[in-house]
Amino acid sequence: MNAGRQLLVAEAVRTARGSPGNAILIEGERVVAVGDRDTLESPGIPIVEFSGAYLLPGMRDAHMHPVPYASSLAGSSLDGVTTIDVLVDTIRIGSEVLGADEPYVALRLDDGALAERRLPTRHDLDAAESERPVLIHRYCGHVAIANTAALQLAGVDASTPDPAGGSIDRDVDGVPTGVLRETAIDLVSTLLDASGTVTDDALVDALYGLTRMGITSIGAVFGLGDGPWASLGDEVARMVGIADRVPITVHGFVIAHTSDALADAARRLDDAGSRLRWLGYKGFADGSLGGHTAAMHAPFTDRPDETGTMRLDATDRHLAEASVAMGGMVAIHAIGDRANSAVLDLFEELIAGGADPHRLRIEHASVLDRSDIERMAHLGVTASVQPAFLGSEFDWIVDRVGADRIVSTYPFASLDYAGVPLGGGSDSPVESPDPWAGMALARDRAGVMTSEGLLPDRALSLFTDGAAAALGEPLPLSPGSPADIVVVDRDPVACSPDQVRGTVVIETWVHGAPIEVATR
Ligand SMILES: [Zn+2]
Repeated sequence: MNAGRQLLVAEAVRTARGSPGNAILIEGERVVAVGDRDTLESPGIPIVEFSGAYLLPGMRDAHMHPVPYASSLAGSSLDGVTTIDVLVDTIRIGSEVLGADEPYVALRLDDGALAERRLPTRHDLDAAESERPVLIHRYCGHVAIANTAALQLAGVDASTPDPAGGSIDRDVDGVPTGVLRETAIDLVSTLLDASGTVTDDALVDALYGLTRMGITSIGAVFGLGDGPWASLGDEVARMVGIADRVPITVHGFVIAHTSDALADAARRLDDAGSRLRWLGYKGFADGSLGGHTAAMHAPFTDRPDETGTMRLDATDRHLAEASVAMGGMVAIHAIGDRANSAVLDLFEELIAGGADPHRLRIEHASVLDRSDIERMAHLGVTASVQPAFLGSEFDWIVDRVGADRIVSTYPFASLDYAGVPLGGGSDSPVESPDPWAGMALARDRAGVMTSEGLLPDRALSLFTDGAAAALGEPLPLSPGSPADIVVVDRDPVACSPDQVRGTVVIETWVHGAPIEVATR
């Protein structure tokens, strides 16, 4: 019974559990066995040989936002903007191609990279566009700046109270400066339709771009037009609209505000063909370190007046319970130590109510009380981590959290040694989805608290075995698992972090077939 079988042969197969040989036998879409060529080859089975190369499980990104990522690739990114003047010019130039009634919406502003070292205000943006609504998002997605026209459209003025779970920055007279944090962004973003910034082709191209990095499945976070990057619209509808062109496995986490909306999105994803499936609910317990909105037990070291924004509320509890009842996972964003403690309290209750701890994830788990690391291990809940954050934050993170807390900030090794299941991701477009860069940063941490760096095989596990488990997938390359394989030019476990950064992806196989990169 050799029909449909193929034997992939290379220098070695490398997994996070060792090197079990140099060949992978597949049949159709599935792995049959991994071992040595000598024992797996037999007459009639075609051999696909990659001499000098390495066969790895396909890379998994446990947490990213494909529609905003595609939008950032399609031109809405403010990457490379280094001064407020350049920002103003960028908005002016970007607006020229827009229709008269289209808003200007952009992503990925990094105020830390601006020469002025401050967030812009509405006055800065008004200099570029005074009539057209403008909304620009900090790269983390937790802070945005609106121009005066956008604030007026949303009716946001000195009399507008801060919404629950968010805040409006104000000048000394109480007038909004244009800077909106957390749920306050939604006041403006839900009114602006910028979904035209990403076409279906651009979305498909972005997914093919992931395969060129070796990625074979993603945990895709989808907004429904009312969460972060809300002006991109109903992201589930966008993904469902290209379902028959999706080259990888997309596991959807939905940011919903009602259980009906969650159930509806789950049905739409599950009905959209074999590449898409609903995986769970995505909620927010707090904001970001960059925006000073992460919820901390004690104030930020560089902002002694600020302990961040707690967003976890009864709605999250209700939606988490609804997701569990529907057979789904629960993934809750928690960056600050106070937010992480609160999510663990919620998870303890869900587990007491019968939830499977393996289906409960804390997204980011950035700053942790030591006792919470033990609690996570004891509960068996997953930390979904993004080592690439360190590549963006290394020059200010120590000042922000202080010497006491930096020792348990992104404490990858402590989590791993404690036995907490770890899944790796990028939170793209917050960071690049490049898993090789993520793997390298999991090890060298851009020089920040390097004692918390992972060993090479554990860093590989983040983006393979660990992320697969966090996505509810079978153990990669185990018999019967999907034949999701990446062929690369080097062994990441034998390489230095910098060599891992330079990994060349030769071919990516999804479900037993190489991706034809030219095909749409
Ligand atoms: Zn995210």
